Amino acid sequence: MSSGSEDSFVNTMGIRGVPVKCECGRNSVMKTSKTKTNPGRPFFRCPTYRNDHLFKWVEDAVYEEVEYTLVKVESFESDISKAKVEIECIKNVNDELMEEVRKTKIELNRLSLAMKVGFGIVCLLIVLCIVMMMIEKSFGLYLSSY
Ligand SMILES: [Zn+2]
Repeated sequence: MSSGSEDSFVNTMGIRGVPVKCECGRNSVMKTSKTKTNPGRPFFRCPTYRNDHLFKWVEDAVYEEVEYTLVKVESFESDISKAKVEIECIKNVNDELMEEVRKTKIELNRLSLAMKVGFGIVCLLIVLCIVMMMIEKSFGLYLSSY
């Protein structure tokens, strides 16, 4: 492995976190340093091993990943807080709507009862009219028979 130059330079190509690919398009490979200054230290490298291609220490990549993840977690926590507030608002609206439905049901029951009573009165009036007409007719007949 010709990895003798990894102590002298770092070329992250501006990639934050774990570099999956080098800028040349090749997938990065993970290797372990065998130099005297960094023995056993893992790094990501472009398989071309050219100096102007990717080189990044794994610990730096992992640190950036953790940093990014922490920011994401904070963002999630903020989103969860917002969602909790929204759920509370929806609950309140729901409670108001349920109260409105309850009131409307009572109003409908009242109207229904009023309509039944009204219908009963109308029926009674019709029956009364028919009876009156019959009485009038028979009374008329009674009168005309004399
Ligand atoms: Zn490359």
